[in-house]
Amino acid sequence: MTESAVLAIDIGGTKIAAAVVDSEGTVVADQLRPTAVSTDAETVFAGVESAVRALLGSLASTMDRIRVGISSAGPIDGPAGTISPVNIGAWRGFPISARVHAVIAEQYDKDAIRVALAGDGHCFALGEHWLGAGRDVDSMIGMVLSTGVGGGAVINNRLFTGVTGNAVHLGHISVNAWGPRCVCGGHGCTEMYARGPALVAAAKQRGWAGGDDARALTAAARAGDEIALRVIDHGMRALAAGIATTATELDVSVVVLGGGVSKAGAVIFDPLRRHLLDFAVLDYVKDLELRPAILETAGLLGAAALAFSQE
Ligand SMILES: [Zn+2]
Repeated sequence: MTESAVLAIDIGGTKIAAAVVDSEGTVVADQLRPTAVSTDAETVFAGVESAVRALLGSLASTMDRIRVGISSAGPIDGPAGTISPVNIGAWRGFPISARVHAVIAEQYDKDAIRVALAGDGHCFALGEHWLGAGRDVDSMIGMVLSTGVGGGAVINNRLFTGVTGNAVHLGHISVNAWGPRCVCGGHGCTEMYARGPALVAAAKQRGWAGGDDARALTAAARAGDEIALRVIDHGMRALAAGIATTATELDVSVVVLGGGVSKAGAVIFDPLRRHLLDFAVLDYVKDLELRPAILETAGLLGAAALAFSQE
């Protein structure tokens, strides 16, 4: 057991993962809990609490401070330490950082505990930058394509948080100013065209009846189904515009793409790369590189990286 280990917590809509991670990125011990389906905030927190308690014994009692990193589905308020995950209805403005701090303070000196909070897109980027597809670069954008579109950026080896911890909100930047109204209130957001369920809905509208999820749709595209290929191409054009905009604004030349839909591979990456040529046109982003993510648990490892980044 190394003295420089941290506690990482990854809170999602279906599961809560927690781990003790050392400075090499090795998971020393871990715990997994289902996210309780409940309208009661305490019932949901009980899963986090029990996972944290189960891991405290794995943290060396000789450490002079306990560093914790929390990754959560958004929206979050980083400075306030509160979260309101869209997919966890029981938590609105839930003070996750203070609550986790209190659980650990039952066993450790409260002044020696540091808790940092970041959104899951940010932690994904941190994880892939530390140990994954972006470990050889100083700056990168991390992007998750699944039931939603999330993102984060590491600039000059530091997480770019923004004022409230929501920077690089790639899913809700507009790629069509005249597009339909999005759930966020904006118009023509990338997520409306590119997220898994949007691709499936578009295919069904055109008569595709091959299934109900993006996995079935990408499999159909791989088998040459014309509707599947067309709607994916359409969605990836929107996403390419969003990626190029973000890379152009941040002056970053590497983008790491992960998330369930991205795992389909070439049927997603090929159209994305092709459309990127249309949008990443300024000299400094012309060679924009789109890399597949490597890590299975980028969010959890990113939470660990976040924990290590604290004094
Ligand atoms: Zn939106």
